[in-house]
Amino acid sequence: MKKVLVLEDEISIRSFIVINLKRAGYDAIEAGTGEEAFEQLRLHPNIKVAILDIMLPDTDGFEVCRKIRASNSQIGIIMLTARTQEMDKVTGLMTGADDYVTKPFSSAELMARIDALYRRTGSVKHEDLGEIVQGPFRLNTRNRTLEKNGARIKLTQVEYAIMKMFMDNPGKPLSREDILNTVWGRDYFGELKIADVNIRRLRIKIEDDPTAPSFITTVWGYGYKWGL
Ligand code: CA
Repeated sequence: MKKVLVLEDEISIRSFIVINLKRAGYDAIEAGTGEEAFEQLRLHPNIKVAILDIMLPDTDGFEVCRKIRASNSQIGIIMLTARTQEMDKVTGLMTGADDYVTKPFSSAELMARIDALYRRTGSVKHEDLGEIVQGPFRLNTRNRTLEKNGARIKLTQVEYAIMKMFMDNPGKPLSREDILNTVWGRDYFGELKIADVNIRRLRIKIEDDPTAPSFITTVWGYGYKWGL
């Protein structure tokens, strides 16, 4: 069964999400507090996607996200943000979330995000057996891991997918639409900004100086380019 954690203290919203998950064939694991969420993650180590509300009675969703990411880079994380808190989106992504959905959201919108993330986190491509080595970087496409100068860099699944796309296309300018289509899928509802925020986070992990990136350079008005 495909398990999704739903951390939301508002019963009406949680029920709405749970009903839609069940309808789509997912097993919804419910939590109303941060503590319950960690307990459920311990009980169900095979949860592949977590939906995290931000305002919670005992903690906030960013803190939960940070703690999950400290030990689990594989799980997909979607934050539920409020329309009025535009900054939440960036904060959430910078703490390690893969995506966000703004309240109020439609079931179609939420399910599209979950499906896209689930496909990515759940899929292991068996045809990929090799590794891509470029400059100081070694991308192992079997284990989906990255090393820089022999040291492991922890990547989320989204960050890995972006790295793979860059290393498959050295020197080629990639538009933000290309990146969204390849990494998130063509049926993705999201905004182009999500590519920018994920790339900003990736730069912090892989660049010598993230404020003056030399590997992932910006192509103004278009997108990004990978080069060494
Ligand atoms: Ca809440």
